[in-house]
Amino acid sequence: MKGVEFADILRVNTKGLKLSLSNWKIVNAILNCRTRVLGGHLYACSSCKKSEPRYNSCRNRHCPKCQGSQTAKWLKARAEELLPVPYFHLVFTIPHELNPIIIKNKKLLLSLLFKAQAKTLEDVSKKRLGKIAYFSVLHTWGQKLNFHPHIHTVVPGVYLKNSKTVVSSNKFFLPKKVLSTVFRAVFLKILVQEFNNSKFTYPEIEFYQIINKIKCKEWIVYAKKPFANPKVVLKYLARYTHRIAISNSRINSFNNNNVTFTYKDYKNRYKKKTLTLPAKEFLRRFFLHALPRDFVRIRYYGFLAPSNRNIFNKLADSLPKHTTLTYQAPQANLLCTHCNTDSLTHLCELKPLIFPASSLLKNNPFNKNNQFQILAAYSP
Ligand SMILES: [Zn+2]
Ligand SMILES: [Zn+2]
Repeated sequence: MKGVEFADILRVNTKGLKLSLSNWKIVNAILNCRTRVLGGHLYACSSCKKSEPRYNSCRNRHCPKCQGSQTAKWLKARAEELLPVPYFHLVFTIPHELNPIIIKNKKLLLSLLFKAQAKTLEDVSKKRLGKIAYFSVLHTWGQKLNFHPHIHTVVPGVYLKNSKTVVSSNKFFLPKKVLSTVFRAVFLKILVQEFNNSKFTYPEIEFYQIINKIKCKEWIVYAKKPFANPKVVLKYLARYTHRIAISNSRINSFNNNNVTFTYKDYKNRYKKKTLTLPAKEFLRRFFLHALPRDFVRIRYYGFLAPSNRNIFNKLADSLPKHTTLTYQAPQANLLCTHCNTDSLTHLCELKPLIFPASSLLKNNPFNKNNQFQILAAYSP
């Protein structure tokens, strides 16, 4: 039986949601994902003689239904560039006092978070070792869908010193304490600079109250347990890098008013617990994690940056050869949903539904009768 999906919660709660136009576009994509609106393919089952449509996914990166389909290509590329060296995992977090400022200025300040972690790693490594490389993934959520921006950084234990390749031991090569202190200084310096240059706005008195509070606090850069081997890195990437705030599998129930979902309590040995929230609050939290349209969530630095491909190739050649890992994407399920046999054959393509321009999402997603416009067109 089909469990509760995020789209079900969205569908009955669109009215009254206060969202930006770009967030309405996300709503639109999620509601239409894998429905006849987007078209698809019609299959026939040679065993039970029934026909079965398979609809296209929306491919929106915030969609809880089809997030997996976009990751395969990315993982394949990462698998091919894994090196026979230790791999480390850092997490850059910032004090929660900064949340209101960031939520109001997401694009600029989430970019600043990337900038600050990159400058920290660059400064600390340059002094001690040489040129390191890494890639970083932004997550903005905590387990309860709360706003908790942080960056996961995967660092191969290899660096370039005077053009020579040096492989690190199994112990992370940069001191955590130094990273934490430098990160705090760098982040705050750029933040205040950008504020003084009017790159973003926030009530001035409150802004400095927050700064004063957090500049004396201890900031933490976590160095998680290093990955045991490149295979484990790949497994980690497959599971976490393209995650979004919540997946459908975590939603337990929805009764039109409240949503219950599972979360892991990190303070209690990752124990699985459930949380019930009013649907409106659940959706408010979900959209805290919607990213500006062209915001890049995964960034590459040093010899892992696409522009440094030649340096990477040289470095890879100087290391002992190892068997390249390949990523196997999970196979699409092509079993007949009626009789569960693999007897489906392709009949024809189903064209996406075309709506008159007047019914498409414009500034106001509600039509004259106050119906959400896509819902008006969409009836499964
Ligand atoms: Zn069948
Ligand atoms: Zn989708």
